[in-house]
Amino acid sequence: MTRTLDLAHGSLQLPAFLPDATLGVVRAVDSADLEACGVQALVMNAFHLMQRPGAAVVTALGGAHRFAGWQRPIVADSGGFQAWSMLRDNPKLGSVNDDGMVIRLPDSDRKLLLTPEKCVQVQVRLGVDVVMCLDECTHVDDAAEVQERSVRRTIAWARRCRSEFDKLCRQKKLDDTQRPRLFAVIQGGASLHLRGRCAEALLELGFDGYGYGGWPLDADGNLVAEVLAFVRQSIPGHLPLHALGVGHPLNVADAAALGYDLFDCALPTRDARRGRVYQFLDAPAAGRTDWLRMHFLTDEKHVRSDQPIDPTCDCLTCTRYARGYLHHLYRANEATFQRLATLHNVRCLTRLTEALRPADGLGGPA
Ligand SMILES: [Zn+2]
Repeated sequence: MTRTLDLAHGSLQLPAFLPDATLGVVRAVDSADLEACGVQALVMNAFHLMQRPGAAVVTALGGAHRFAGWQRPIVADSGGFQAWSMLRDNPKLGSVNDDGMVIRLPDSDRKLLLTPEKCVQVQVRLGVDVVMCLDECTHVDDAAEVQERSVRRTIAWARRCRSEFDKLCRQKKLDDTQRPRLFAVIQGGASLHLRGRCAEALLELGFDGYGYGGWPLDADGNLVAEVLAFVRQSIPGHLPLHALGVGHPLNVADAAALGYDLFDCALPTRDARRGRVYQFLDAPAAGRTDWLRMHFLTDEKHVRSDQPIDPTCDCLTCTRYARGYLHHLYRANEATFQRLATLHNVRCLTRLTEALRPADGLGGPA
């Protein structure tokens, strides 16, 4: 049986790939395009939407679903990862303390205070289906004391998020069937001890689902499979687990085999805009790499190719256009290139997760 995640705007068949619609849009395509690619849900970013256009504007326009013309589920991203990335690139942009994060907005004098309470308030106000607790992200190679502090803060912030979320549900009189789901993020870097401690404390607080937080790749760009496996084992099998930031097709196949249910990443759409597109040579399988080929549509070798990117793909791009035409659009700097390449890579990821679901009747993970 395929696993499902029932949300206010529909049920997700798991595993599922969720494109990053950071500002309420996946660059170069629209919501109808994404539906045609079999996308079941989008990830939107609370931190970015509260800056632009602002949560009040999104609410005035009917909430995140109406705002984006997207009636399927929306999973929110707390913004913890984005704030962490900004501060990692430029520590002068703000600071993190036990209360939350202060970020100075680029090209402005405005400062944004992101506390656990505010983070939950904004997500509930946007009307998303899954609310994500604020966490303090780390890199897997960060020092032990950094990981230790991140776990301590992540647990404390999750407790505050839980309490704010429950208060808002009571105020809005949302019963168990109407309320969004609340997910917490497990930190701890590469330390199994810290990951275990974080998972245990968050399980005690009780959430509807969990996310694997922190950079999921090691210094060589390989998936930290041992840590991912440990975290999956730490969370009871019936609870959904989101591999945040995992989106390379090979990594999705490997993490799904470990029992991960949800994936989101900007990589497939960013790759597409740069002309890097994916082809399946065989049925996707964990632990192997020979089923996937990368094509660079920018390469001269495609000039006269009358072949689609992937003859087995049912997307608009592959059923209608040849690599030679796509190469021409790229060279001519036509905006349509970005749309067609994005449609294909998104469909590639949704086909991948469809292929990774157990055939009905064979049974899913315990
Ligand atoms: Zn295609």
